[in-house]
Amino acid sequence: MSTVKTVKFTLNGQTVSAPEGQILVDAVADNGVYIPTLCHTRGQHCLGTCRVCSTQVNGKVSASCTLPVAEGMAVETETADVKNMQKTVVELLFAEGNHNCPSCEKSGRCDLQAVGYEVGMFVSRFNYCYTPHENETSAKQLWLERDRCIFCQRCVQFVHSANGKKIFSINGRGHNARIEMDIALADTLTDAQAKEVADLCPVGAILQKNQAYRQPIGERKFDVASVRERVLKGETV
Ligand code: SF4
Repeated sequence: MSTVKTVKFTLNGQTVSAPEGQILVDAVADNGVYIPTLCHTRGQHCLGTCRVCSTQVNGKVSASCTLPVAEGMAVETETADVKNMQKTVVELLFAEGNHNCPSCEKSGRCDLQAVGYEVGMFVSRFNYCYTPHENETSAKQLWLERDRCIFCQRCVQFVHSANGKKIFSINGRGHNARIEMDIALADTLTDAQAKEVADLCPVGAILQKNQAYRQPIGERKFDVASVRERVLKGETV
């Protein structure tokens, strides 16, 4: 029987332990410290696209959603530099997209909005780009609102049809890159699968049609428990 080795590392000056190879953001949460993230799903391989979880490891900036813990690491999550870096990335995401929280049906269930509160963002320090984005509305059950896409790529990585084909893909490069939805494949999803896909998207970019504003204010995901509380409980956010 193989046993997982435990490694020791310092977290904000305290010595803590975690299973060797555990991804840092999860290892830190298991030791009671919250690091904000938007592209990471607990226990799943992460592409490290959003960079919101940037922390200081051995004095260097690292994305904690892609870094496995190792013996002797020195991790700092609470310094002013780290906090400002995380807040800056969130502000940039808000400035790049067209996020109108009060009118978005994902409000109260949106990871970006919830993380915005956690990092103490009230308004972006960057000029808003107001880039127009074409939306994709022709699928039967799903709506792709590209204005709100933060390009985390979770949909590309994890959403497949019954025959294993990717339903979402990336088209274009650089600033012109955008998410595409294969309409014929999207239309093969069941109601429950369409809901899972919409829930997987950390913002209101993928929405389930005819389901808007179903949960009253006070009962929405992050009304009930904050993103910090959920992460520290080990939940998949
Ligand atoms: S549509 Fe949603 S899940 Fe897909 S890349 Fe954009 S934000 Fe991420």
